[in-house]
Amino acid sequence: METPDAALRTYLGRIADLNAAAATLEWDQETYMPPGGQAARAQQLSTLRAMAHDLLTDHALVELLDTAASADDPLTADLVRVTQRDVEKARQVPTTLVQEMAQGSAEAKEAWRKARETDTFATFAPHLQRLLDLNRQKAEALGYPDEPYDALLDIYEPGMTTATVADVFTSLRAALVPTVEAIADQPTPDDAFLHQPLSEDAQLAFGRTVVEDLGYDFSRGRLDLSTHPFSTAFSIGDVRLTTRVAEDFFPTSFFGTVHEAGHGMYEQGIDEALDRTPLADGTSLGMHESQSRLWENHVGRSRAFWSHYFPVLQQRFPDALGGTARDAFYRAINKVEPSLIRVEADEVTYPLHVMLRFELEHALLNETLAVADLPEAWNAGMEDYLGRRPPTDREGVLQDIHWALGAIGYFPTYALGTLMAAQLFQQIEHDLPDVEAHIANGDFAPLLEWLRTKIHRWGRRRTAQELLEDATGAGLHAAPFLHYIHAKYGALYDDLPAPEAAPAA
Ligand code: ZN
Repeated sequence: METPDAALRTYLGRIADLNAAAATLEWDQETYMPPGGQAARAQQLSTLRAMAHDLLTDHALVELLDTAASADDPLTADLVRVTQRDVEKARQVPTTLVQEMAQGSAEAKEAWRKARETDTFATFAPHLQRLLDLNRQKAEALGYPDEPYDALLDIYEPGMTTATVADVFTSLRAALVPTVEAIADQPTPDDAFLHQPLSEDAQLAFGRTVVEDLGYDFSRGRLDLSTHPFSTAFSIGDVRLTTRVAEDFFPTSFFGTVHEAGHGMYEQGIDEALDRTPLADGTSLGMHESQSRLWENHVGRSRAFWSHYFPVLQQRFPDALGGTARDAFYRAINKVEPSLIRVEADEVTYPLHVMLRFELEHALLNETLAVADLPEAWNAGMEDYLGRRPPTDREGVLQDIHWALGAIGYFPTYALGTLMAAQLFQQIEHDLPDVEAHIANGDFAPLLEWLRTKIHRWGRRRTAQELLEDATGAGLHAAPFLHYIHAKYGALYDDLPAPEAAPAA
């Protein structure tokens, strides 16, 4: 006779297997599948996901959880608590609403593609309206402490509230807008040498070498090409990355690969005892993004990092970069320029793109902004925050796919991750005073070990807020990011305003 926790694990293992099989098919779809496979693949995925959903919402699982709830080991207690929450959420949203959302977003995606092609927001507007209505229904089904947006945000960032996000973003905006204005008035560094053609194979080989040095384990992973870079895990022993290559702009593939490796190392670092359970995942999208941003920006765009790797890069690409000074290279990869497109934004302007999306989707959901007025509100916001007004909706409100997917409450996690990365890195510099020297020597083991211990190994056993508080002694706040930006970019640009002392939220 199985013990209660063994019976629970057997049951949850079947759900994990179905989800891992679906993730493998999705990975294949984005990397190697021929176009002819599309229709059958959609069917296969829908079958597997439905089977996993049925197992998750079956009453048999409720009983297994109740029986295992009396177990006295902490791991089983965490497993029961987190799974109960997943089950509750899955059971709260009626199947008809789930189907309507799937249908609505499939149609919205098509309309969004057409709207982008023809630059006509009106083509997308009725679909967005429908998805907002469905999201309001979903929020009501899930329940919330203060307002509907809380329910949606909680899906991506468990435990986070709209009020906290709004507070943190207010202090962030107050300091970033004048910083961006001060930088925009100054000459931009020359980065023409980054636009020389470099072979795809050589770019990929360099990225591979670096992420292996960082600690990404290729015996438990691989790197492939896809249109949109991502990372995905099928188990703790198989965590894959993808990247894309622009032959005439080396940073696209390099920083993309380092970014995804940050996500990948998080999942490779989860305690193996959590494998094949719902705990074997990142604890929130914000914390996941903090890991990618930490390696991409705090490590990969630092002076210390390039004091080690620039000579290696020059050796690999002597014709293109042999005559470039390291300092010029460092300035070029850290060029700040207010731009229209979020995914191309530098680390100073990036959070402003995200804050604008948060404010707009929050107002749309609360019906204080009408869908018809969205493009103008977008353009006005861009002008306020970045001093740039998009000439077309394609370069404005139609640029991201998230709203067409029906994902409301997702955007803030990008900026939350940026702030968490800075907060964690500030603590790392305190706990590991030699971290910069280690990075300059190409030794990333102490840094990775810190992240493994404080963040990775826990999986979903603790929330992002709990991990942050345990690791740094404070809840999420904007001050570490603002100090980081001021110190780094104050050395690259003149007369940056001092960061406001942002209150902890
Ligand atoms: Zn990411």
